[in-house]
Amino acid sequence: MPFPSLGLAPALSQAATDAGYLAPTQIQGTAIPAILRGQDVLGLAQTGSGKTAAFSLPLLQRWAEAPRHRSRRAVHTLVLVPTRELAAQVGETLRILGQHLHERPKIAVLFGGVSVNPQMMGLRGGADIVVATPGRLIDLLDHNALKIGNVSALVLDEADRLLDLGFAEELQRILALLPAQRQNLFFSATFVPAVEALAAQLLNDPLRIEV
Ligand code: AMP
Repeated sequence: MPFPSLGLAPALSQAATDAGYLAPTQIQGTAIPAILRGQDVLGLAQTGSGKTAAFSLPLLQRWAEAPRHRSRRAVHTLVLVPTRELAAQVGETLRILGQHLHERPKIAVLFGGVSVNPQMMGLRGGADIVVATPGRLIDLLDHNALKIGNVSALVLDEADRLLDLGFAEELQRILALLPAQRQNLFFSATFVPAVEALAAQLLNDPLRIEV
């Protein structure tokens, strides 16, 4: 099934084609229509399944369709990832897949191990989509460099690694700052009890996809 028949706008289908995606992967075929409808998703998927585009394409579309104040950017989509490498990779995928949108989202990529100042500067004027590792996000929230009280969609990518790396406490601090009403997408390669408990806490009647 081609990308447009999943409900994606031409700008996003075109970006997928430009990226060399000939047809949706299995997780994309199932997750994209559900995410476009606003449903929560639990994806049990490995790297290589195409999970990044599976959430990036529909979330870019939901951002593009969301009403917003022209004068002010508020974080609409928050993607939490375990590592700096994954943050950079997801940020780049979002940038590439969003490049044909009439209005392009401002994407901020936030991770530790580097100076906080350029990231603080980059957040001046706000951001539409934030991709972050939990520790650095909390640093920046503590500095009032951004607000996440209006987030509409939350993604936990590689949730099992987020827990393995000891981010459980940071995750709970972040979750407490998010609005209760939001879409939640949860991806993990493994589904041990701690991951299952976090998924149960976050997700409302999710579509479960196993690839
Ligand atoms: P991921 O599972 O998100 O880490 O993606 C793995 C790789 O698959 C990335 O290099 C993507 O560029 C690529 N990819 C994602 N979706 C597709 C698709 N529909 N067709 C071909 N390649 C894809």
